[in-house]
Amino acid sequence: MVLFDRPPVTLPVIGTGDAVLVRRVYCIGRNYVDHVREMNNDEREPPFYFMKPADALVVGGGAVAYPAATQDLHHEVELALIIGEAGSNVPESHAPELIFGITVAIDFTRRDRQAEAKKMGRPWEPAKAFDGSCPIGSVLPVDAAAAVMPRGLTLTLNGDTRQSGSSGDMIWSSAEIIAHISRLNRLEPGDVILTGTPAGVGAVVPGDRLIATVEGVPPLSVECQPPAP
Ligand code: MN
Repeated sequence: MVLFDRPPVTLPVIGTGDAVLVRRVYCIGRNYVDHVREMNNDEREPPFYFMKPADALVVGGGAVAYPAATQDLHHEVELALIIGEAGSNVPESHAPELIFGITVAIDFTRRDRQAEAKKMGRPWEPAKAFDGSCPIGSVLPVDAAAAVMPRGLTLTLNGDTRQSGSSGDMIWSSAEIIAHISRLNRLEPGDVILTGTPAGVGAVVPGDRLIATVEGVPPLSVECQPPAP
């Protein structure tokens, strides 16, 4: 028997009654030059990733409590790739074929905890992998060409546009990211990859309403609530 069973984390697939069972959530760091520069980092470095647990997803957005242990929660809007086919050592030319669909996600970040981790050379989990750290939308199924075409992405905070970019401006393309990760781990169906954020990241406080968009996908709306008691 399975002890400590729990409901699976799934993402609805737009236009079908299906849902994707989420496996792992990979997140690429520093993938837009304007964001790399706003964080005073070097844009010439190779791609790297961190991970969030599937439990960190807030499927469909909605109310999200301001997390504990931060005074500086930041928003990062990102294009998310949903993997539908397994692959190791995937060549870039084949990488788009692994993509089942795309959606929009917010990589919530405890920026103060991240600054501490960077300074001390420690892992980013406290900054990135907390409960509620990844609101995410429904999955738009796409073919390989549509999966990698440039798409606008935006984030508005209380109606003001804070982030506006295009996935065509990523330093490492979706195909390059898939090729890179697949050299380190076998990608599996249900894996989700957040591909990085353009410039304009900033603080979120309780009461804020965020709307994140990726062109072609329904918008993702999040209301930041007071911290849970
Ligand atoms: Mn990010």
